[in-house]
Amino acid sequence: MRAEHIADRVYRLCTLMVNVYFVEAVSGSWALVDTGMRGYAGTIRREAERLFDAPPVAILLTHGHFDHIGGLPWLAKHWGVPVYAHPLELPYLTGRSSYPPPDPTVGGGSQSWISPIFPRGPIELDDWVHMLPQDGVVPGLPEWQWLLTGGHAPGHVSFFRERDRTLIAGDAVVTTRQESLINVMLQREIVWRPPAYYTCDWAAARRSVETIAALDPEVLATGHGRAMRGALMRLELRNLVDDFDFIMPMSGRYIPYAAVTDHGGVIHVPPRVGVSPAQIGIATAIGAAGIGLAWYVRTRLSRQSSVVSQSSSVASLQSSVVSRQSDWSTPTGLTTPSGGLKTRTGQLTTRTGRLTTDD
Ligand SMILES: [Zn+2]
Ligand SMILES: [Zn+2]
Repeated sequence: MRAEHIADRVYRLCTLMVNVYFVEAVSGSWALVDTGMRGYAGTIRREAERLFDAPPVAILLTHGHFDHIGGLPWLAKHWGVPVYAHPLELPYLTGRSSYPPPDPTVGGGSQSWISPIFPRGPIELDDWVHMLPQDGVVPGLPEWQWLLTGGHAPGHVSFFRERDRTLIAGDAVVTTRQESLINVMLQREIVWRPPAYYTCDWAAARRSVETIAALDPEVLATGHGRAMRGALMRLELRNLVDDFDFIMPMSGRYIPYAAVTDHGGVIHVPPRVGVSPAQIGIATAIGAAGIGLAWYVRTRLSRQSSVVSQSSSVASLQSSVVSRQSDWSTPTGLTTPSGGLKTRTGQLTTRTGRLTTDD
């Protein structure tokens, strides 16, 4: 499985159905954005070793949903690097609060129906995780800035490089209909709303889509789906803003009222919308079978391409890995970029110890 070059010094790697990004600075240092599905940490590490001669200076999280943190804490410990997230995401990464429950009633496909079985944390990264610096500064990537694009998750952020208007948008917008497993498997391209089953504040989600459209990106790299670029992508993005009332779910647990969260985690969630256990059971069985099939197909394809490539270049690969492993024994220090960047920021307050929510 190889990472795809999508913009200057930016590479996308898809882990089953979730993207991670390798982002290199002009200096040659680099950072990993998100860590993908569980079970892909080794793949990410191997691809990092192929692309770079040193470990990353940081792991940056767009948000902490389970499909974006599967490689943690293993990758952070392996590389010995800090993890950065927005303060509003820290409760879900430090064992203090679970995310608001997913909403299976928002429609759009089988992914929504099976969402109640998705893990919603929290995980405990303890000393590995830190607040993103204020003023939009991105550790290790001086050309980039982060922006709060909440709604899908309370402290969701996007990363933007103004020089070529490359945007890593996480799940604030995506480029496939993530609720539909068929669309996910086929990776059909469309600029689309955040995955609905996990979005717990639709008013904030709308503002985030407006924020992203106002950036006028040239390259749109998202947590799900292929990277899109150019005028057609921007037109679709504009249409998403204009038609958001029609594109967002008609009904659901977080419509019209959002989950209430703060720096300590979840405070209140609206009551569950009625759905029968039989409906959830049938949909869960279908969805789980589909995910299993997707995993099987991707694994088979990956192994086939791996065998072909290994047979043609085993000797050069072995020597390359040996030399890079020795290079990586000395961790690279984290540099602090300077220069203010305009953005919205949050502040961490005292820990409140809220751990669970009404499901
Ligand atoms: Zn998400
Ligand atoms: Zn996601």
